[in-house]
Amino acid sequence: MALFPQSFIDDLKQHADIVLVIQDYVSLKKTGATYKGLCPFHGEKTPSFHVNRDKGFFHCFGCGVGGDVLKFLELHEKIGFADAVRQLAQRFGLSMPELEQSDDQRASALERESLLKIHEAAAAWFRQQLASPAGARVRAQIASRDVTAATNEALGLGYAPQGRDELKKALLRQGFSQALLVRAGLLVQRDDGSTVDRFRNRLMIPICRDTGSVIAFGGRAVEADQQPKYLNSPETPIYSKGRTLYGLNLSKAAIRQGKFAVMVEGYFDFAQVYQAGVRSVVASCGTALTPQQAQQLRRFTDKVVLSFDPDVAGQGATAKSCEMLVAEGFEVNVALLPPGEDPDTFVRRHGADAYAERLRRSQPYLEYMLDRVSAGHDLRSDEGRVKFLAEMLPIAARIPDVNMRDRFADRLAFKANVTDEVVRSQIRSAAVQKQTTIARRESPNPGNVTQAEKGLIWWLIHEPAAALAGLAALDQADLEGLTSTSVLDLARKLNQDSGFSPSLLLERLNTAESQLVTGIASEGEAHVVDASECTRILKRRRFERERAAIQRDIDRLQQRGDDAPRGELEQLLVRKYDLIQKIERLG
Ligand SMILES: [Zn+2]
Repeated sequence: MALFPQSFIDDLKQHADIVLVIQDYVSLKKTGATYKGLCPFHGEKTPSFHVNRDKGFFHCFGCGVGGDVLKFLELHEKIGFADAVRQLAQRFGLSMPELEQSDDQRASALERESLLKIHEAAAAWFRQQLASPAGARVRAQIASRDVTAATNEALGLGYAPQGRDELKKALLRQGFSQALLVRAGLLVQRDDGSTVDRFRNRLMIPICRDTGSVIAFGGRAVEADQQPKYLNSPETPIYSKGRTLYGLNLSKAAIRQGKFAVMVEGYFDFAQVYQAGVRSVVASCGTALTPQQAQQLRRFTDKVVLSFDPDVAGQGATAKSCEMLVAEGFEVNVALLPPGEDPDTFVRRHGADAYAERLRRSQPYLEYMLDRVSAGHDLRSDEGRVKFLAEMLPIAARIPDVNMRDRFADRLAFKANVTDEVVRSQIRSAAVQKQTTIARRESPNPGNVTQAEKGLIWWLIHEPAAALAGLAALDQADLEGLTSTSVLDLARKLNQDSGFSPSLLLERLNTAESQLVTGIASEGEAHVVDASECTRILKRRRFERERAAIQRDIDRLQQRGDDAPRGELEQLLVRKYDLIQKIERLG
C-alpha cells in the first residue's frame, strides 16, 4: 500500500475545502453553520446530508454515512484511500510526494497514462484526417446532418480513413508501441498475429470522461451498406461503457446550473440538442442506463428529462433506464415528441424553440406510464383492470420514497376504478412487498452508545483539548466494552503518539466508526455539559460494573454456605466496599 507522509495529508486537507469538493457532486445550501443537500448515497427528497466545513466532515442522517473529505471520495468514487488522496491532490493542484509503490501499481498507473496519451493522439489524428481531402465526403455528411462547424469542433469529430493500417502507421511514427495500440482497442489483432486498424472508413466520435480526456471512440459507418452502423471501442483499463455518459464533459456545468439533465439516445441527438442551446444534455448511447451512470449524473443533478423517440419510450432499454433512475431516487420526466421523431430530426425540422417547448411540457415518468399503460387496457372490464394493475405494480414498487409510493398506489387504484378500501390497501402493500428487491443501505445503529460516549466524541471534534483531558483521566478498563471503545482508544493513541486533531481522527476511522463519529459530531450540542462529566460517568459505570461482578461472586460463594472459603469472601467484601466508596466519591 502506498503510504503518504502525514504532513502531506494534513497539508492536503488544509487546502481541500470539503464544501467545494462535495459541491462537485451534490448541490449544497448553507443553513446556519452547516451545509445541507440531498444525500448522494441514498435516494431522498428532503435533504438530510450535512457538511460541516469548519470541522471538515459530512454526515447523512438518512443513511448514516459519514466521514472526512477523503472518505467522501472513497465512498462516492468507489476508490481506495490512496486514489482519493491522489484525486484530491490533483483537484487542488498539490504535487504528490514520492511514493513507495509496488511494481504492479506503478505499471498499471503508467499504462493508464499511456492509454490516455494514445487516445489523445488518435483523436488529433482523426481530426486531421477529417480536415484533409480524404475527409471531404464525411465533412459533407456531417454538414448534411446540420451539424455546424462549432458543434463539430466541440465534439472533436474526426475521420478514420479507408486504409487498413493508416492510424497504426501514424501512431507508430509518433513513438507509440503496437502493443499499446492493441491494448487501447485501436488495433485489432488477428489470429495469425497481424494487426489492422479497428476503425476504417468511419466518422469518429471521441468519447470523453467528464474531465474531457478522450477514453474511447464511437465510429459511424460512412457507406450505407457498411456493417455495423456503429462500432465502439472495446472496454479497456480506462474505459467502461457502463460508467460513461456521452457528452457529460461538455454539459456538466450547464447541468449543475440548470439543475436538470436532458437525456437523449444517440450522438447526433446530442449534437442537435446541444446546438439548439440546450447545453445540459447527455446521451445514453442506446443501451439501458446502469446505476453507475446514474451515479455519474447524480454528481451534478437528480432531475432527468428523457427525450426519446416516443415509439421506443416506455419499452425495452428506455423503460429499464427510467425505472432504474426512479429507483435511484431521480426525479424523471418524459418529454414526448411526435411519433417517428427523435431529438435529432425534431430539432432540425421544428427548431430549437419548439424543442425547448417540448421539454417544458414534459410529464413526470410515472404519470406518463400511467397514461400509457391504462390506454393499452380496457379498464371497464375486470380482466383489463387486473392486467393494468399487474403491469403497473412493479413500476410502483420501485419508487424508493414510501409516501410517494403509497400516493402512487392510490392513484393506480383510482385509475383502475377500485373503490373498495380493502383492495386499495392491498395495492399499497403489494407495492411495498416488492420493494425488497431494492437494496436499502442498513442504517448503523448507534443506539447502544451511551450519552457519556456521545459526549466525549462530540467534544473530541468540537473542543479536543477538553475531551483529551477527559480521556487522559480514564483508565483502559474504563473504556472496555463500550460501543465506541475503538474510537476512544484511537483518540488516546493519536494523542500519545503523533498529536491529536479532529481531522486526523476522522481520517483514521473505518467506515462504521466514521458514521458513528460524524453522526454524533453533526448534532448541535454535546448533550453532556462538559467532557469531564463524561469521564465521571464512564468511570462510575465501570466501577458499578465491577461491583456487580463482585456481587455475583459473593452471591455464588454464599450459596455454598459453610463450604465457602472465608478468606476469599472477606477479600471480595473489602473490594466491594472499596468500590462503593469510589462510586460515592464520584457522586
Ligand atoms: Zn444518505
